[in-house]
Amino acid sequence: SWNSRRGPRGGFVPPIRNNGGSGTTISRVTGKGDDSMEDSTRKCIERLCGPDGELPEKLRNLEPRLIEHVSNEIMDRDPNVRWDDIAGLEHAKKCVTEMVIWPLLRPDIFRGCRSPGRGLLLFGPPGTGKTMIGKAIAGEAKATFFYISASSLTSKWIGEGEKLVRALFGVASCRQPAVIFVDEIDSLLSQRKSDGEHESSRRLKTQFLIEMEGFNSGNEQILLIGATNRPQELDEAARRRLTKRLYIPLPSSEARAWIIRNLLEKDGLFMLSDEETSEICKLTEGYSGSDMKNLVKDASMGPLREALQRGVEITKLSKEDMRPVMLKDFENAMHEVRPSVSSSELGTYEEWNRQFGSLS
Ligand code: ADP
Repeated sequence: SWNSRRGPRGGFVPPIRNNGGSGTTISRVTGKGDDSMEDSTRKCIERLCGPDGELPEKLRNLEPRLIEHVSNEIMDRDPNVRWDDIAGLEHAKKCVTEMVIWPLLRPDIFRGCRSPGRGLLLFGPPGTGKTMIGKAIAGEAKATFFYISASSLTSKWIGEGEKLVRALFGVASCRQPAVIFVDEIDSLLSQRKSDGEHESSRRLKTQFLIEMEGFNSGNEQILLIGATNRPQELDEAARRRLTKRLYIPLPSSEARAWIIRNLLEKDGLFMLSDEETSEICKLTEGYSGSDMKNLVKDASMGPLREALQRGVEITKLSKEDMRPVMLKDFENAMHEVRPSVSSSELGTYEEWNRQFGSLS
């Protein structure tokens, strides 16, 4: 029973509040007695119960361990990214602020004609800040952030993906306003199907579309953000539901300069002149944000490597033994860190953007 003093492993469990029959709530959810549930799971379920101790409708008939997985692994209470951490992408930031953040902050104003789309697609090369934007949205809109990689639904959660999707949308609806970020959404909503497609992945896709339909029509404050670097794989049904489609391109020269300065300044290592910085920017045409981060990392090792070559021992190395990070460190690092996106790939994104992207 709910009040059992025996824990799942038979250990002593201190008595807990009996909310006048809430025991039946949990049993109703699981269809089993409470003894089968781990303490952590029970606590997690309890937190999702309303003031009346009842579990919200949407979470009934779902397996508690899946609800717990969503709450602990997929839900992120503090995404910890701000607009100011993201270099460039002014256009995307402006669109997202209007389309997503304002409506989440002021649902009363954004009704009727102003009611926002509930699906946003961020597409473009890998490592350009799509995930950062998702997290920043949640932070700026004070929303709960849920992150899931669609490929994990098909690879890690074989046969259970559907149930996990239901749990995900169920928990999100209890934690509104909520932002659900689905990385690699192409692997879930791709147009490749029929022959090769497994029955299970078709069911998963259907379930996902049903869930999206559900909150699209209701008054729920849930936003779905899909991210992909293969937008051309999305089919018509997916495009229709992701009404706003923003191209997240490679960083401009200014954005690259900003990333270099920002990362080095954080560690008090920024000593480059304007000329040196713009020289590095010239040499890094075609680098993604994440390539830039790797480049800075490698370049910042330069002074350390040099000091060690001079014979200073790593255990005795002090800050004074290391010169500042210089242009030549970046030039060396560029041999190690190459751009990860090819120009032919860029062409594909630009073409898809012309055809399906939102311009504003
Ligand atoms: P994506 O989701 O587009 O594949 P991420 O948002 O995960 O890329 O970015 C990966 C990493 O690259 C980030 O953690 C960040 O360090 C760096 N990065 C990418 N784009 C930017 C950007 N526009 N501004 C600052 N850092 C960036």
